[in-house]
Amino acid sequence: MDGQPSQVLYIEDNFDNRVLVRRILAAEGYEVLEAEDAESGLEIARREQPDLVMIDINLPNLDGLTLTSMMKADPDLGHIPVVAVTANVMKGDRERTLAAGCDGYIQKPIDIDEFPRRVARYLQQYVSNGRQEA
Ligand code: MN
Repeated sequence: MDGQPSQVLYIEDNFDNRVLVRRILAAEGYEVLEAEDAESGLEIARREQPDLVMIDINLPNLDGLTLTSMMKADPDLGHIPVVAVTANVMKGDRERTLAAGCDGYIQKPIDIDEFPRRVARYLQQYVSNGRQEA
């Protein structure tokens, strides 16, 4: 770690969810970037190279799983861990997010106690994986 706060990009079309996640993560000392759709999320990810990207699966236009696949196939973005955040609890959703290349899966509604621990764990895994050179 270089002492800089970890940067987390949250791509979510629902305003209330963005406010909630921003509050939780800001309180933990993270720098939070936000996007309302996949297209602007991709642009921000390219520009900012965040430490972690959290993606709502149900996004307008390009959905979160398609976006994840695009990011994982991109040589400049493929190394960034992606966590799916979804209200879908149908059987097979977890498998679908993992198949799309997501590194993790967080279910809505967001548990405000559990959420920061999960985020910290995903960031930790990333660092201990040595931020593999893509
Ligand atoms: Mn949504």
